[in-house]
Amino acid sequence: ITIQISQIQETKILLTPQQQHYLLRVLRLQDGDKFIAMDGMGKWWLTHLKGETGEILELLEVKTELPVSITLMVALPKGNGFDDVVRCCTELGVTCIVPVLSDRTLINPSPQKLERWRRIAAEAAEQSERAFVPTILEPVAFSTAVNASTANQRYICEARGNYPHLTQVLNNLSGENIGEIVGEKIDEIVIATGPEGGWTDKEIEMAIKAKFQPVSLGCRILRAVTAPIVALSLITAACEA
Ligand code: SAM
Repeated sequence: ITIQISQIQETKILLTPQQQHYLLRVLRLQDGDKFIAMDGMGKWWLTHLKGETGEILELLEVKTELPVSITLMVALPKGNGFDDVVRCCTELGVTCIVPVLSDRTLINPSPQKLERWRRIAAEAAEQSERAFVPTILEPVAFSTAVNASTANQRYICEARGNYPHLTQVLNNLSGENIGEIVGEKIDEIVIATGPEGGWTDKEIEMAIKAKFQPVSLGCRILRAVTAPIVALSLITAACEA
């Protein structure tokens, strides 16, 4: 049982009424029963129930984070598709998600949507036992996002054109294998995926100017919701294989 906590006082974990209800009424935990409390910022504690609070027993070592930082820039898809992107990419280990407004993005989401995505990320991080909850930034114009990137590896997924496959590029990082980077140094990757109608030529040019390398995710055209999940899966596999 893992719960994300917001308040801690010395060795005491303060539980919200909803968490008390979940632990005491739904799961029927008793005093002394153990659960894990996480703060979403890297710390996990083995805890036991004491009244309506948790008492910390020990700090746990968590090894579920990737050795690279991955920022995903996703052109907002239609409907609730972004919910799936946030959920799946959190499970896969993303560090930061930037919803981008591109030339062919149809929507400008409400502040409630941003709250919803952050909630989904927190729940998915808890479910997949992540040490950190990924940051979901406010939606931003594509041009602002690409020009602000400082990551040392920058990729933009492009469905058309004869670009190298992402796995080829990841396995050949300026002569180094990503396996050598893993465990040694923290690397930063940023990867952008486009909207239903794809990127415009102008956007691809702008990205190339900002040192983003266009990459392919294979011969098939993936949906705007599928592409970021595939990109994350390939990076995760390259890190962990
Ligand atoms: N009609 C669009 C086009 O021709 O570009 C298809 C866009 S696709 C539905 C949405 C986004 O997913 C693309 O902009 C791209 O970023 C990514 N994508 C989909 N399939 C891809 C592939 N095979 N390789 C690289 N990126 C892909």
